[in-house]
Amino acid sequence: MTQEPDPKREQHEVQPEVNEVRRERHEVRVRGVVQGVGFRPFVYRLAREESLAGFIGNDTDGVIVEVEGAHASIEAFLRRLQSEAPALARIDFVTSRSISPKQEKGFRIVASEVRGQVATGIPADAATCADCLRELLDPKDRRYRYPFLNCTNCGPRFTITRRIPYDRPQTSMAKFKMCPACQAEYDDPANRRFHAQPNACWDCGPRLWLVDPAGATIDAADPVAETIHRLLDGQILATKGIGGFHLACDATNSSAVVLLRERKHRYGKPLAIMVRDLEAARSIGSLSPADEALLTTYARPIVLVHRRSGNTIAPSVAPGVPWLGIFLPYAPLQHLLFADDRVRALVMTSANLSEEPIAIDNDEALARLANIADAFLMHNREILQRCDDSVMAVVDGAPQLIRRARGFVPLSVSLAPKLPEFDAPPLLAVGGHLKNAFALARGRFVYQSQHLGDLENLTGLNFFRESLDHLMRTFEVAPTAVVHDLHPGYLSTTLARDWAAERNLPLIAVQHHHAHIAACMGEHSLAGPVIGLSLDGTGYGTDGKIWGGEVLIVRLDGPDPAQFDRFAHLEYVPMPGGEKAIHEPWRMALGAFHAAGFNIESEEVLALVGAKPYEARLIRQMIDRGINTPLTSSLGRLFDAVAAVVLGRGVVDYEAQAAIELEGVAADEDDRLRHQEYVPEFCAGDGSFILKTGSLWRRLIDDARAMPREKIAAEFHAGMAKGLIKAASNAREKTGIHQVALSGGCMHNRRLARLLRTGLEKEGFEVYQHRQVSPGDGGLSYGQAVVAAAILGKQRAES
Ligand SMILES: [Zn+2]
Ligand SMILES: [Zn+2]
Repeated sequence: MTQEPDPKREQHEVQPEVNEVRRERHEVRVRGVVQGVGFRPFVYRLAREESLAGFIGNDTDGVIVEVEGAHASIEAFLRRLQSEAPALARIDFVTSRSISPKQEKGFRIVASEVRGQVATGIPADAATCADCLRELLDPKDRRYRYPFLNCTNCGPRFTITRRIPYDRPQTSMAKFKMCPACQAEYDDPANRRFHAQPNACWDCGPRLWLVDPAGATIDAADPVAETIHRLLDGQILATKGIGGFHLACDATNSSAVVLLRERKHRYGKPLAIMVRDLEAARSIGSLSPADEALLTTYARPIVLVHRRSGNTIAPSVAPGVPWLGIFLPYAPLQHLLFADDRVRALVMTSANLSEEPIAIDNDEALARLANIADAFLMHNREILQRCDDSVMAVVDGAPQLIRRARGFVPLSVSLAPKLPEFDAPPLLAVGGHLKNAFALARGRFVYQSQHLGDLENLTGLNFFRESLDHLMRTFEVAPTAVVHDLHPGYLSTTLARDWAAERNLPLIAVQHHHAHIAACMGEHSLAGPVIGLSLDGTGYGTDGKIWGGEVLIVRLDGPDPAQFDRFAHLEYVPMPGGEKAIHEPWRMALGAFHAAGFNIESEEVLALVGAKPYEARLIRQMIDRGINTPLTSSLGRLFDAVAAVVLGRGVVDYEAQAAIELEGVAADEDDRLRHQEYVPEFCAGDGSFILKTGSLWRRLIDDARAMPREKIAAEFHAGMAKGLIKAASNAREKTGIHQVALSGGCMHNRRLARLLRTGLEKEGFEVYQHRQVSPGDGGLSYGQAVVAAAILGKQRAES
């Protein structure tokens, strides 16, 4: 029970000699993530502890607080407001101004109000907290084994919310009327569930049930126990989670994993596995303290960790790579599955076919997954926003986001936080083609969407539109300009054009690798100039060729922020078959050998690449006649080509698989470079300098026969890093710039990231890497927004 403190006694204790303490009143506004994270009860408790009168309420700006009392108490209140804020809160700004006292008594929480422009965020979904977990497993608790328990410190947020302010009627919990016990908790400011919007219990909240693929209910007294029974029996279950359905199976059962792969048509790509706790994670992966910290954050991302040998995980979970994607339970239902000791590790992969969006709706799941899942564990708390699991890795000693989704969305990212000129008009940046995420920007913030996947089909496009509508509504951003990639063939470009035309909005096109470097600059508040190493798969260049191994000079505060210099790039090589070469690295290998002056129909080359004579003849004809054979300077494609030779990985199941496996093979090797031929040669070119890779192919012919593949893979990494560092040094000599920004999909490669950073620092460069935003195409929209904000800021300053 809370008791009204006696203000007179408190004042007396604080300043015993003063008879009459002058009362002051302050209006305090707090912005950031302060709704739905237990902020109001926290402020309520704080105000009472400091003997302050007044009120707190949510509004679209965040929270507004008025406090009245002694000067020292208000000061203490303001200090503690920041230092003791709840774990899930993120405070961006606090403003405080003095107003006239109202001689009010007591402190109140007032009802939410909607007014003005929306600046506050819906919080991201958060993993079950320790208090809730204890209740879940306590037979004496009224929520014992209740799969939907939560409190102000945990639970779903973004995925169940229609619009802000984040209050129960705006969420998919609106249809569940709280029972008296839940309502009492919800109304009690001293309770952990005070205004916990998804608050629920066995009596009043959502329920679970099991159905078969035909949609018929499976008769089971305890659907969770039945689910466990089926999982241990080798079945594949579709389980409805927080941001969508997962496909689950026993990760220690090889045939179950193989069956899942066959049914899902996903043959090579590693599958994420969920384990009970850190201890279980340690037994299958060798975890650094940074890995452990990531695994246990409220966001509970999938973390890529080094696999320990001799564990019980089926090899088919992650074939060909020395890593495992591991995550810990984050929803009560998942904790219940692992509460059974027999459940050791579960494959938990997004319930979709290949790169389609994750299924969220019960009927949708049945329709799309009937041929994959043996049974469906459903519930009736509607998921309003699709949201995959986030993926992270510790790259070069610090966390890096690979896939930004659940737990991070819709948290905003600053637009170049330290640069005052970055005050963007409302913008929509549509991102790229693969691993798409769009961004809405306004003022100093960017709201990036969750990972949406590849925009290759109608389902992907619909997911894009659905999320765009939701985020525009959520943050009340009405874009006044639309930013897109330079590639004329991207569906995202078409979408941007149509969307802008319908609304009569201006379009801004930003080159792919320019956007990557700008994204890294934005994160670190760099206006430039910087030397940008944009190392990537493929992106459309200003010359119409396919870029991806680029040394760019970028400045956002220059006379024209739309422009950049292409200082150097990897040598162009043919990409026979275009897009097809991404899935068939043997084509890239033949293209590269051809560019290096080899007869690709010779037996020597055919044997190395594992190609048939007629295939090589066809490729040569394509190159000679320029049929569907663009030229590319992509580093990612060079990795693929080398992997085709060194690993015999001629065909891949997912983009960058060959490159990832090459990194994996090199994992335990030292960094020493024995053969200079692996270092690209820095040469003058037509307008830009060229990093020539011909010597690499001559060397590979000898080494592929004589050297272990681990060593070749390691030397290739070392050689590439050295060549790129040399190019950066040349750029510094010509320009005097000593800041380097590293970006592009190749920066997911941990070995390359470490070699580049350490090598550049040794040469005296200041090096910047991505942390909050993905270096890959998932971060592209953020970079597009940064460039567009700079362009529009410049235009505004000049007009
Ligand atoms: Zn909780
Ligand atoms: Zn209840």
